[in-house]
Amino acid sequence: MSERILRLVLLGPPGSGKGTQADLLASQLGFVHYSTGEVFREQISQGTELGRWVESYVARGALVPDEVVLAVVEEFIRQHGQQSIAFDGFPRTVPQATGLDELLKRQSAQVDRAVLIDLSDDEVVRRLSSRRQCRNCSRIYNLSFSPPKNASVCDVCGGELYQRADDQEETIRSRLRVYAEQTSPLIDYYKQQGKLVRLDGSLGRDRVFADLKQLVEQLR
Ligand code: AMP
Repeated sequence: MSERILRLVLLGPPGSGKGTQADLLASQLGFVHYSTGEVFREQISQGTELGRWVESYVARGALVPDEVVLAVVEEFIRQHGQQSIAFDGFPRTVPQATGLDELLKRQSAQVDRAVLIDLSDDEVVRRLSSRRQCRNCSRIYNLSFSPPKNASVCDVCGGELYQRADDQEETIRSRLRVYAEQTSPLIDYYKQQGKLVRLDGSLGRDRVFADLKQLVEQLR
């Protein structure tokens, strides 16, 4: 029997584990992990026109304007709309969510579930201050609870680990304000459509993924 193609939106404050869970969905359950933040960081490090354009927004933890984000996502959906997708960090505003619905509709597709990974602000700050990422393969570590063997080297590919510029406490606080103001309305948006699933992010990576896996198996 062929498996159902699923499109999941991962919601939650920065640092709640969306990227880690999307990575697991990709490596274990065949999803494409799509992170708009990762697209922007790549463009910035390559110095492209888009990268130069979005750099100041990303550096101060502000949202890139919806039209720009949606243009980037449109291209992705055109190429990958017929695969299972885990959206990580997108949509982040109600106009982005309605834009995503329209883009998927063109492919006779829809968002199947929005999974909210809940986490308190204090825990977000604690986690993000010790988060490190591989420059080469983008794998995420945490120096406190999922440390690499060597604090500056990726266990998987040997790449250099670095701290994201926007993971400094002051920027984290402004990203949390942006989340509360602009992204948390999406919780109601998906709740009204009967698509919201809440998971407790404080339970840690493995427990959260076990629940996510069960959800995917039920939907498939
Ligand atoms: P993230 O890796 O998801 O935490 O995103 C890092 C930064 O990229 C954010 O703080 C924003 O500046 C920008 N960004 C990523 N995704 C979006 C989005 N969907 N809408 C607007 N800005 C975004």
